[in-house]
Amino acid sequence: MYPRLLINTEKFRSNVLWLKDLCESRGIKIAAVTKVFCADEVLVKILVDSGVSYLADSRIGNLKKLADLDIEKILLRLPSISQARDVVKYSDISLNSELATMRALSLAAKEEGRVHKVVLMLELGDLREGILLENFDYTVSEILKLDGIALVGVGVNLTCYGTIIPSEEKMELLSSFASRLEEEYALDLEIISGGNSSSLNLLLDDKMPEKINNLRFGESIALGKETATCKLVDGLFPDVFTLEAEIIEKKVKPSVPDGERGRDAFGNEQDFEDRGDILRVILSVGRQDVNIDSLVPSDKNAKILGASSDHLIVDISDCEAGYEIGDIMSFDLNYETLLGLATSPYVEKYYI
Ligand SMILES: *Cc1c(COP(=O)(O)O)cnc(C)c1O
Repeated sequence: MYPRLLINTEKFRSNVLWLKDLCESRGIKIAAVTKVFCADEVLVKILVDSGVSYLADSRIGNLKKLADLDIEKILLRLPSISQARDVVKYSDISLNSELATMRALSLAAKEEGRVHKVVLMLELGDLREGILLENFDYTVSEILKLDGIALVGVGVNLTCYGTIIPSEEKMELLSSFASRLEEEYALDLEIISGGNSSSLNLLLDDKMPEKINNLRFGESIALGKETATCKLVDGLFPDVFTLEAEIIEKKVKPSVPDGERGRDAFGNEQDFEDRGDILRVILSVGRQDVNIDSLVPSDKNAKILGASSDHLIVDISDCEAGYEIGDIMSFDLNYETLLGLATSPYVEKYYI
């Protein structure tokens, strides 16, 4: 059935093992982030078999699917107070920056008869989640008063909002706060988490401070990429995932629509360049499944012309391959397109 998400499990496994070897040699444990492929069960099994230390996801709904697996789970998105009970039930560890939330987790943990581990997120400039450094001591002392909660580490998230690139200085700053927790508060820290795939470059350049012992990898495992500079990493496969869609119309048509112009199905006005008649195909995939603007045809001579909810129109005038009705075209994916496709119930997952 098409459209389908073609998943090369061997390339996926290879990426995981390559990153695990690299991290192990530096004393770093991997939290494998499953959100970009919706915690797909086949891929999660490969992660667990490969020996990653944690599974991590931003959504409780995904963590629920992992409940039976004997591996620690991390909730990546700051917990919602309204979900405190489920946070404690379905994750062993969560990343936190709000005392009110941790108080709710404390109550929930007591009700569940568990101890929930928290990692305190520090704001180091990217301006997404994290406490301001000036509030560090107060926050720590308040957390230490809570029953049912164990403060097991500190962490940072960079690049996702402010596009800040992880630097040796930022990692040293994180390390220094970890040392303070260990020395001034006599805590034994399990997790000093230096960020996501954007921290991979520091590791590759051998500039990651020794104190950092945890990284949370999603994009690098799934797409072979380091986020901040968008560079492919030598040794990692970028093409674990491919979209395949089927051709349902092939015709030569004018490049400019004929008639009075209004707006398209999404309320936008469109410009059309007159390039005469073009050979084009329609594929049975659309904006309901994927953000078309980030999709890249694997055939470098094919050009995406536009799309509506369920139709994708591609110019194949310059293609050497002879496409026919019923043929399949493939597309290379990035973070955004993979996220959409993995989430769409209309897209079949096909493993090779
Ligand atoms: C999504 C996410 C990650 C994983 O990021 P990648 O760039 O995919 O490696 C790590 N940490 C947090 C807090 C996240 O939300």
